[in-house]
Amino acid sequence: MDRRRFLGLTGAALLGAPGLLRAQGARHVTVIGAGSAGLTAAYHLVKAGVDVQVLEAAPRVGGRMKRLTGFADVPLDLGAEWIHEEPGVLGRMLGAGETDLGVETIDYRPQSYQFWHKGKRNDFNALRHAYEEVKFYDTTWYGFFETHVLPHLAGRVTLKAAVEYLAEDGAGVAVHLADGRVLRTDQVLVTVPISVLKQGGLGFAESLAPALEELQQVDFGSGFKVFMRFSERFYPDMLFQGSRARVLSDTWAEKLYYDAAFGKPTQENILGLFTVSDGPLPRAGMTDAALLADVRRELAEIFGPVAERAFLGGVVQNWGREPHIRGSYSMGNTSDWDVAEMLEPVAGKVFFAGEALGGDAQSTVHGAAFSAMAAVEEMTG
Ligand SMILES: Cc1cc2nc3c(=O)[nH]c(=O)nc-3n(C[C@H](O)[C@H](O)[C@H](O)COP(=O)(O)OP(=O)(O)OC[C@H]3O[C@@H](n4cnc5c(N)ncnc54)[C@H](O)[C@@H]3O)c2cc1C
Repeated sequence: MDRRRFLGLTGAALLGAPGLLRAQGARHVTVIGAGSAGLTAAYHLVKAGVDVQVLEAAPRVGGRMKRLTGFADVPLDLGAEWIHEEPGVLGRMLGAGETDLGVETIDYRPQSYQFWHKGKRNDFNALRHAYEEVKFYDTTWYGFFETHVLPHLAGRVTLKAAVEYLAEDGAGVAVHLADGRVLRTDQVLVTVPISVLKQGGLGFAESLAPALEELQQVDFGSGFKVFMRFSERFYPDMLFQGSRARVLSDTWAEKLYYDAAFGKPTQENILGLFTVSDGPLPRAGMTDAALLADVRRELAEIFGPVAERAFLGGVVQNWGREPHIRGSYSMGNTSDWDVAEMLEPVAGKVFFAGEALGGDAQSTVHGAAFSAMAAVEEMTG
């Protein structure tokens, strides 16, 4: 590709792209990606008085926060679902301390557990004393951002704006979009998933590039979710597959069926399947229709004919098939490598945030948000 041609066309390209026009004079920051990290960063940059524009490749915001509506009478999370922290984390993500934002959450304590192992389904309800989390009551992670973050970003998010390349542009950066548009900006905050960086989905001029080769060490898993509605309930609150020792060991690979209606304001029978792995997942390579058929076959094997008889409908979200996400989340032992070192700010112009930089909260929504807040502090401090 001829980058100079793009630079030469900058004026015309910008004229044709009103959504990308920047204010004259004020410092301008471009955030790449509108997931938890990108939206949180933009929220705090706006609060700090910075002129900010978010460029999102997909036709929607949220990234790995995605809401399913119209399938059941409550909204469901096709990506991130659990709040892996105390509810007060929501206020902290907005820089509001432990403020009660009026978001209703539930104390998520499943009561009935089963394991499916070697063709047998066994109860193991002792787990009810060992597991406890937090979930949203009648909203989703996407809904939280929609209510509390997006209203502050009106006119600042451009969708279908895939960034392809970052080049030097005097004291600033030239942001090249896949459709040929070019935006000149002072600083860039990159929040695309590690998978995209590893696979060269975003290119950098040599002087602006992070340690892309080292980044190859960071595992990025695959994963999918399935939601199914049934006319009757025949499943426990949670069902794990595999031996207790394997399932309860400290591993990144997880597969569980769970009552997705648990504690939610609905009488519907909604079963979720959550599958992620740092290894190959044969189902992740299937079409959605084949994947759903395979899951139904498995349910009939585990629960018998009722699983087919009571089936009303199903939806698959395969994260590996999202072209700008390409998998589930970063996985691995952070003592083996330090993502923060690989993604240090470059030349005071290019900064990084996202779940992989979440430290102890790696691979979570709030971890991504906190990494964004740290980056904003560095950019504005
Ligand atoms: C199945 C699944 C279940 C999960 N469950 C939970 C959970 O229960 N709780 C929890 O806390 N976390 C969970 N997570 C993890 C959580 O979703 C992520 O850690 C978090 O949402 C990531 O936010 P992010 O901003 O770092 O990245 P993303 O949300 O991936 O945002 C990055 C954005 O960059 C955009 N982009 C990519 N390339 C480009 C480009 N070239 N130009 C412009 N834009 C681009 C993408 O489209 C995307 O919108 C789950 C994830 C998955 C996949």
